[in-house]
Amino acid sequence: MSLIVQKYGGSSVADADRIRNVASRIARGREAGNDMVVVVSAMGDTTDELISLAHQLVERPDEREMDVLLSTGEIVSSTLLAMTLKSMGHNAVSLSGLQAGIHTDTQYSKARITAIEPQRILQELNKGNAVIVAGFQGLNSQMDTTTLGRGGSDTTAVALAIGLAAHVCEIYTDVEGVYSADPRIVPEAVKIDRIGYEEMLELATYGASVMAPRAVELGQAHGMPIMVASSNSDNAGTLICKEGSMELRNKVSGIAHDTNVAKIMVIGVPDKPGIAREIFEPLARANISVDTIVQNAGLDNVTDITFTVARTDVVKALSIVEPVGRGIGATRVTSDETLSKVSIVGTGMQNTPGYAARMFRALADEGINIHLITTSEIRITCIILEDRVKDAVRALHKAFEVEFRQAE
Ligand code: ADP
Ligand code: ASP
Ligand code: MG
Repeated sequence: MSLIVQKYGGSSVADADRIRNVASRIARGREAGNDMVVVVSAMGDTTDELISLAHQLVERPDEREMDVLLSTGEIVSSTLLAMTLKSMGHNAVSLSGLQAGIHTDTQYSKARITAIEPQRILQELNKGNAVIVAGFQGLNSQMDTTTLGRGGSDTTAVALAIGLAAHVCEIYTDVEGVYSADPRIVPEAVKIDRIGYEEMLELATYGASVMAPRAVELGQAHGMPIMVASSNSDNAGTLICKEGSMELRNKVSGIAHDTNVAKIMVIGVPDKPGIAREIFEPLARANISVDTIVQNAGLDNVTDITFTVARTDVVKALSIVEPVGRGIGATRVTSDETLSKVSIVGTGMQNTPGYAARMFRALADEGINIHLITTSEIRITCIILEDRVKDAVRALHKAFEVEFRQAE
């Protein structure tokens, strides 16, 4: 008998039939003699709908109330799943994040898990229950509900797999694994059998929404293998684990794209020490991640600073940067929400020249203009207009196709 930790995403529990399907899968695991701990996301687009409802009432909803509101989505799906299992003759219990012992820091909407106290889960398993945990939520030191950031049920699942010393964390979704690009945009995308944490983290951070980046980071830090597979089939999925040297064979492993991008420009700032600090320190204090920072060469002691943030953070970021801009004597602060990122990722690129040139050529051949460029050792990202992002993903997939096929 072993302990299995599974997570089912929003589309896998989107309606009564889908919930019944998940319940049968859990029942099968129990009938094979396993202890089952199952994390669920909110049904379908519930989280988006709750966010939109709050914004119909308030421009900037209170962060504490918002987290409690959003956590209700996962309470609905976990309770429905537990009662379905019971009706099928299986002992089951649903637990909220609080009851499951998930402790977090106090950063509403992006809370980080600080500790897992799995006693209640273990007690319920001992009683013979399948344990259904509401994903995406925890409890802070003030006993208030927090949420773990979008896609946070993945993080709950990996954290529980670590806390319960499972051998692997199984993530079930609406695709059969991690592909060389989003299969909804590139139907010819290739399923990756095995991928290292580092590459998966770059893909996820740069938009491959199939895994939440923080969950990959957690898996990497604790050496927890993560299996991504479909809730609709029993086909083998993708194993995310420590990379072996074999993977260096394929230089580009995947293409990611992200439309949750906004550019902020602080124009006409004095070119002197301390200016970047004045802009970026308060953003960091507000827990806003900044990416792709470009400062133009100063002319007449005046320069422009451009950077990107998540589009979902732009209102908050502008409310911080606009007064700072006035304080440091900037001419103006503007924002642009028409952009997206497209990235190629692969550990094998790091010592091989020519990848950037191939990427730029593929985009140029499609007539796609590059606004900004950023790189890491294993990634090249171009910021382009959002209305060309799908064309860009397809063109890049075509340009690097040979490398994906090598990995098959
Ligand atoms: P869940 O609700 O199960 O968490 P998500 O919608 O968060 O599911 O993630 C699954 C989706 O991720 C897929 O439907 C697919 O469109 C998208 N996706 C983006 N990039 C990739 C990729 N490289 N491989 C697989 N799926 C991807
Ligand atoms: N329901 C949350 C979201 O939509 C968490 C998750 O699905 O993982 O982001
Ligand atoms: Mg997800």
